[in-house]
Amino acid sequence: AAKADGGRHRRYAPGLDDRTDEEARLGAELRTALDRGEFHLVYQPIVELPHGDVAAVESLIRWWHPERGYVSPDVFIPVAERSGLIVELGEWILRTACLQYADWWRHGVAPERFGVNVSARQLAEPGFAALVAAVLAETGVHPARLVVEVTETAVFGGGAAVRAVQELSDLGIAIALDDFGTGHSSLGLLQTLPVRVLKVDKSFVENVTMAGRHAVIATSLIQVANGLGLVAVAEGVETAEQAAELYRLGYRRAQGHHFGRPAPARPTSTVEVSRV
Ligand code: C2E
Ligand code: CA
Ligand code: CA
Ligand code: CA
Repeated sequence: AAKADGGRHRRYAPGLDDRTDEEARLGAELRTALDRGEFHLVYQPIVELPHGDVAAVESLIRWWHPERGYVSPDVFIPVAERSGLIVELGEWILRTACLQYADWWRHGVAPERFGVNVSARQLAEPGFAALVAAVLAETGVHPARLVVEVTETAVFGGGAAVRAVQELSDLGIAIALDDFGTGHSSLGLLQTLPVRVLKVDKSFVENVTMAGRHAVIATSLIQVANGLGLVAVAEGVETAEQAAELYRLGYRRAQGHHFGRPAPARPTSTVEVSRV
């Protein structure tokens, strides 16, 4: 019966083997890419409203594959999570972002904070908070400068991920809830997690200038954030109209193409003139 089932399953899901092949191929290529140094980080400003001064930056990973060209992190991060490579890749991301921040700091051009995205799998890895503490110490970055961005789904299951969030917070690292409003129990999490920043998902920002559900939710979320003493960041702000409306609603932080696209860090070494 098992054999017959297997056959039937295969017949009714013809794309399945192709998909798993592609997943395995991409997984292997990610391994090679990490060894060959094909990844780099870009940084996107998070600004203060209404004037647009840079308050922080978020680091985002980029991958240019020699044949595939640009591959979106929305495609390869989930693959790296499933293969487990995200643990090593995530450590590279964290160290690279910290080294960059330390460099900005030395040159007096560091923004107040920098955000690093951390996946569910990394958070649940034993000793994650200790690893973060070690990387901060090694790179000479103060814990209060770092914002760890986690999604609601990563902490939804409780357990190890929630403990890690607590430990990171105890170290003085700020926690941001990413894509806020799109997960299972957004508001419930705020009762128990030591969260400092709510990143309001771009789906609510997109239609904020039109009367409708999204605008109502964007309005409610800023009230929740302000009421709880949290910082709300509006994500995916693409127009001046959206920025103005968000400001009117009470948002004081925003991120999006209107203010600046993710870009590689400019070299700071040339600024350094013989410091004796
Ligand atoms: P995210 O953390 O929600 O990152 C924000 C995404 O919105 C980024 O896409 C950014 O480029 C994009 N974005 C910024 N401004 C605008 C805008 O005005 N309009 C629109 N439409 N999009 C905007 P990106 O870089 O492609 O990253 C996609 C997702 O991949 C991220 O979503 C995050 O979940 C994941 N990711 C990226 N870098 C990392 C990383 O270093 N580590 C981990 N674990 N995940 C990462
Ligand atoms: Ca993020
Ligand atoms: Ca987000
Ligand atoms: Ca996202």
